[in-house]
Amino acid sequence: MKVLKFGGTSVGSPERMHAVAELIIREPEAKIVVLSAVSGTTNTLVNISMALADQQKDKALGIIEQLHQDYLHYVDHLLNNEEAKATGKEVVDAHFAALRSMTREDFNADIEKEILAQGELLSTKLFCAYLKEQHIQAVLLPALDFMRIDEHNEPDLDHTEEQLKALLTQHQEVSVFVTQGYICLNSQNRIDNLQRGGSDYTASLVGAAIRASEIQIWTDIDGMHNNDPRIVKRTFPVAKLSFDEAAELAYFGAKILHPSSIRPAQWANIPVRLLNTMKPEAPGTLISSHGHDDREITAVAAKDGITAIKIKSSRMLLAYGFLRKIFEIFEKYKTPIDLITTSEVAVSLTIDNQTHLEAIKKELEAFGDVEINQNHTIVCVVGNMPFRKVGILKKVINAIDDIPIRMVSYGGSKFNISILIDSQYKNETLNRLNEKIFFVEKV
Ligand code: ASP
Ligand code: MG
Repeated sequence: MKVLKFGGTSVGSPERMHAVAELIIREPEAKIVVLSAVSGTTNTLVNISMALADQQKDKALGIIEQLHQDYLHYVDHLLNNEEAKATGKEVVDAHFAALRSMTREDFNADIEKEILAQGELLSTKLFCAYLKEQHIQAVLLPALDFMRIDEHNEPDLDHTEEQLKALLTQHQEVSVFVTQGYICLNSQNRIDNLQRGGSDYTASLVGAAIRASEIQIWTDIDGMHNNDPRIVKRTFPVAKLSFDEAAELAYFGAKILHPSSIRPAQWANIPVRLLNTMKPEAPGTLISSHGHDDREITAVAAKDGITAIKIKSSRMLLAYGFLRKIFEIFEKYKTPIDLITTSEVAVSLTIDNQTHLEAIKKELEAFGDVEINQNHTIVCVVGNMPFRKVGILKKVINAIDDIPIRMVSYGGSKFNISILIDSQYKNETLNRLNEKIFFVEKV
């Protein structure tokens, strides 16, 4: 069995949704289809929630009305016969009635999550209505019946495995299942979600739970590119990546994949294929435990909004326990550290969550001078770089030899070199790395 996940743009219009149906019938193996909300919907639902949080109920109702009309229009073009259209319209009306009734309650975080869940609930129901009209047998598996997060917001894979197994055995003759990405129940049994972009994570968790033969993530770009196509002109899709490389790239800025979504697939050793609905014949990117052939540097990604923190203290000299005390402060404020470099009297590290920056700074000042640099970017160079292979770091640094580098982290793993620069140099850095590494190597 395979898992096929389609993102928001893949179901972004009735025509796109028709194309998704074509794609799934072309796949001979049985499958669970995971759908995102129609593109733009989750953002609109966020806007509705924000208006309600600001006590602007009329504004919220106005946005709901507009979205309702958009969906009625969608249904009208998605479905062909009058009976199917009437059913589709009923589905849409029911969800919008629910949304309107939510505006009458006192707004809180639970209502917000219920509002945010409507996008995936709608897209999957409409897709099933279309499959039915096309006489394609399919069963809708409600994600809330098997996706759950615990009190630490961590997915409960055992629960998913148990529940999904039970559900699938009830429908042994069925080969197409449809479910919602992103949404789940939480430890209080209330509707919750896996954070924005979380449908990829759903697909990976479902794939791991059923030990799928493959997880396919269908988007609107033909795989993971070797560099950011929005910034660099000549990029190309990377044919093969290892799980570790893909995880680094997703975490450090490649927007195509939710950063957590590699873990479950890697744990269950299930290959993940990134494919393009607009160009289904393109090979895309295959992420697996094998990784790629002999290319030493595979891809580059960049993550903005990074803050560098330097703590300088002569007390660090020859002392032990110093780093632990520093790290404890970050732990206390639940702030992850990405990069770290040390010298005998100073340590520099980076964070991307600045929520508690002031409080962290205050506490760090007890240990020495603290210097903070905001608006930085981590450029992450990923590949297969065992330490014995000489010259890789040189190649990277040479490519950007006139760009001021704030930190370099090399040797943490054999998969990546991370470079911290002021964000003003990001475009130049990515372009130079592209020209001097990928295009020189390619000829
Ligand atoms: N619809 C959700 C979002 O826009 C989840 C997803 O599409 O992955 O974030
Ligand atoms: Mg996405």
